Amino acid sequence: MFYIGSMFRYDRPQAGRYREFHQFGLEVLGASSPLADAEVIAMACEIFHKLGLKDLDLHINSIGDKNCRPAYRQKLIDFFMPKVDQLCDDCKERLLKNPLRILDCKEEGCKAASVGAPVITDYLCEDCNTKFEAVKKYLTALGIDYTVDPKLVRGLDYYTNTAFEIQYPPLGAQSAVCGGGRYDGLVEEMGGPSIPGIGFAIGLERLLLALEMQNLIPAPQSAHKVYIASLGQDAVIEGIKIQHLLRSEGVIAEMDLQDKSLKGQMKQAGKSKADFAIIIGSNELEEKAATVKNMNNGEQKQVPFDNVAEYILSALKNN
Ligand SMILES: [Zn+2]
Ligand SMILES: [Zn+2]
Repeated sequence: MFYIGSMFRYDRPQAGRYREFHQFGLEVLGASSPLADAEVIAMACEIFHKLGLKDLDLHINSIGDKNCRPAYRQKLIDFFMPKVDQLCDDCKERLLKNPLRILDCKEEGCKAASVGAPVITDYLCEDCNTKFEAVKKYLTALGIDYTVDPKLVRGLDYYTNTAFEIQYPPLGAQSAVCGGGRYDGLVEEMGGPSIPGIGFAIGLERLLLALEMQNLIPAPQSAHKVYIASLGQDAVIEGIKIQHLLRSEGVIAEMDLQDKSLKGQMKQAGKSKADFAIIIGSNELEEKAATVKNMNNGEQKQVPFDNVAEYILSALKNN
């Protein structure tokens, strides 16, 4: 399944980390094979590939499972305990509750304290190791480059085995444009049956930032604009008919809603950067033909009311 929509951050908002943000996510439920892990990672990579993003790094890790992680966890506690004074306040709290999270703390003190810390991949049980080797083999077969990153952890107990991130380093400290992993314990923890799952999420604001940095955001198509200046109710009626026809063809067609004089309306036509102005005054009503003024070169032409929309559309097409 996939989803796309608004998410709300509980943590304090920061630059580029908004209270409300947008996320695209994909989840595979019910598959425990490492093949599902490789498929999900490959799909994440393919999405970025299709968007044209370059210079992304895929980081992968295995964080074990409930058989092997407790021993590793204890190793980490033993490692950090003598250095507890170097850790930030958050990590001091994490030390006994969630020591894995210390490894991905961005504070300088914690980063320094983490140097030489035991790595999970050295403590994986046979089953976890076999799965991790399989994921790596499948990725290699698919021609997907990756870096094994033992510091990539998901610090919650329901996460198991594969963890991965796709990073765009120029984004700086918050360089991950996609994060994912396996969460075989989550459904059960939430009160459901024991169902394995793996998925990822892409933060759309950060993705847009990366796309912008690589000039991959297409320029919006500029719509054509027409201003209809009219004086008196009879003229307005001819005007709104033309406006309606033009709008139904995707042309931005503006009319005065503030009872401006004809002169004031023409001024507004210039200000609004209209391609054409359509003028309907008393002369035009008599002739049953509007004055169509090309605002770019000043050329004017009388066009019968019934033909104005058609005339403008063909003139815009040839522009
Ligand atoms: Zn820390
Ligand atoms: Zn294990």
